[in-house]
Amino acid sequence: MTENRNAKLVEDILRLKEQRQAIILAHNYQLGEVQDIADFVGDSLELSQNAAKTSAEVIVFCGVHFMAETASILCPDKIVLLPDINAGCPMADMVTAEGLKKRKKELPGVTVVCYINSSAEVKAESDVCCTSANALKVIESLDAREILFVPDQYLGHYISTRTDKKMIFWPGFCITHLRILPEHLTRLRQEYPRAKVIVHPECRPEVIALADEVLSTGGLCRYANRSEVEEVIVGTEIGIIHRLRKESPTKRFIPASEQAICPRMKLITLEKILWSLEEMAPEVRVPEEIRLKAKAGVDKMLEVV
Ligand code: SF4
Repeated sequence: MTENRNAKLVEDILRLKEQRQAIILAHNYQLGEVQDIADFVGDSLELSQNAAKTSAEVIVFCGVHFMAETASILCPDKIVLLPDINAGCPMADMVTAEGLKKRKKELPGVTVVCYINSSAEVKAESDVCCTSANALKVIESLDAREILFVPDQYLGHYISTRTDKKMIFWPGFCITHLRILPEHLTRLRQEYPRAKVIVHPECRPEVIALADEVLSTGGLCRYANRSEVEEVIVGTEIGIIHRLRKESPTKRFIPASEQAICPRMKLITLEKILWSLEEMAPEVRVPEEIRLKAKAGVDKMLEVV
C-alpha cells in the first residue's frame, strides 16, 4: 500500500518537476525516499556547488533552511523552494547577527569564519564561510591574527587541533551529533573489530579521539567506496546510511548511535515536495542587501576549494 502510494507521489513529483524546470537537491541526511528522487545528493559544500552551476529555473532544496538560503545567495535569479519552512537547523539558530555584532565589538580586528550552518544575516556579518569539508583549508588560507569561529564549537575545536591559527569559538553545537557518545564507539569496536570508525567533525572531542577518520558526509561517502573498506561504524546522522548501502550494497554500515537523527532534516517528505512544486512555495529568498554581503564570504570559500 505504502509502496503504491509512494510510486504515485514519485510519478507526480517527476511530472511537475519537468513542467516547472526544477532540480531537486537533497542532503545526505534526508529520508531515503527523498534521496531516491533527488537529482543530486550530497553534503553542504557539494549542494552549494551544484546550486551555483544548475541551469534549472527552480531549485527544490531538500535540507534545512540555511542550505536553501545558501542556494538563494548563489542563485538570486532562481526560485528556491524549501518544502517545509520549519526545517531549520538548531545549531544555526544558536548565533544571531546581533549577537555576532556584539562579540565582534569585544574582539576588535578579529576575522570571523562562519560555518555554512548559519543564517544569511550571520554570513553577512562574517568574513568568510566554510563547510566541514573545507574548514581547515579555508582557515589555513587566511592571513589572520585571531579567528572567531561560529557557531559550532566542536568543528572549531577539531580544526584548532590541526592548525597553528589562534581560534576563538562560539558556544554552538549540533544536538544530533552530540548524541554520539564515546561508549557507543567503544562497544561497537568490540563487536565489530574489523570495522573502521568514521565520525563527523561536529562530534564531541572525546568521540573524535576514538575515530580512525574524521570526515564530512561527502568525504565519508568517498571513503566508503574505497575497495579495501568493508565495514564502517558511521558516526554521523543516520540518514546517510541509506546512501552508503545503496552505493556499496555488499558492505556493512553500522550506525554509531541509532539516536543520531536530525528531526529537522526529517521534516521534508515526498508529500511536502509535491505540494511545494504544486504551489511553488514555501520560497526562500534572501533580501538583496544581505545577500550581497553574505555572498562575498561564500564566494571566498568557493575560491579556496
Ligand atoms: S544534523 Fe545538526 S547541524 Fe545538521 S541540520 Fe541537524 S541540527 Fe543542524
